[in-house]
Amino acid sequence: TFHIFYIYPQILNNTQPKRLTMAKIPAVLIFGAPGSGKGTVGAKLAATTSLKHISTGVIFRGIAPSSESGKLLASYSSKGLLVPDEATVEIFGRFIEGLINTNKVNPDKDTLLLDGIPRTVAQVKLIESVVDVKHIFVLDIKDEKTIVARLLNRAKIEGRKDDADEAVIKNRLKVYKESTAKVLGKYSKSIISRINGDNTPDEVFCDTLAAYVKFCKASAKKPAAKKRSEERRVG
Ligand code: AMP
Repeated sequence: TFHIFYIYPQILNNTQPKRLTMAKIPAVLIFGAPGSGKGTVGAKLAATTSLKHISTGVIFRGIAPSSESGKLLASYSSKGLLVPDEATVEIFGRFIEGLINTNKVNPDKDTLLLDGIPRTVAQVKLIESVVDVKHIFVLDIKDEKTIVARLLNRAKIEGRKDDADEAVIKNRLKVYKESTAKVLGKYSKSIISRINGDNTPDEVFCDTLAAYVKFCKASAKKPAAKKRSEERRVG
């Protein structure tokens, strides 16, 4: 359960803020090495389905670089290192809280498409109070050279500093292999769809969409899930 949502007293005409104990928000993950195409596929999926795309990399790059948090984040990302787990999950949780409070995400109806989180085994546990991971799309890339070439090319287009430096790219790939790849072992194989990320962007998108449609149809066949709003109670 997720304990950071409050209904303000003026709304309830009550003096005490009421805390909601909220059901976890369903989520599907888009998973893969840096440069595997997560962001591209994520944006296309969000544009064509009701999934709400949330990329921690995009959230972090949106934090003012001159702010204290911005400086802290850049001190890790510029070296190709992961931001510490607690800070990552805190920022992620607050971001989702903001989306809910501004009605951009409806926790009773929406499913999140998470891109870039969880990235460590510790994050798998830490995000569990916020999201319920229902399915995972893994973008597989056979050859590391493809990744390096893609990131160097993206650096020219998007100007991301962590894409421009080959030593930083190598670090990110090392972190992916040593920490992030282990995340998959924490989930049941039955919820994982593997997509060939070496294909063209259109093929990768279509294959992911097809896997998502299959997942939706399979979920619809399951015995009627308890309505999410019924799982909620005002505490
Ligand atoms: P991305 O755009 O997903 O490649 O993320 C860019 C950078 O943001 C990463 O290299 C990390 O420094 C940081 N970052 C993004 N997501 C996470 C996460 N879940 N945990 C730790 N650091 C992250």
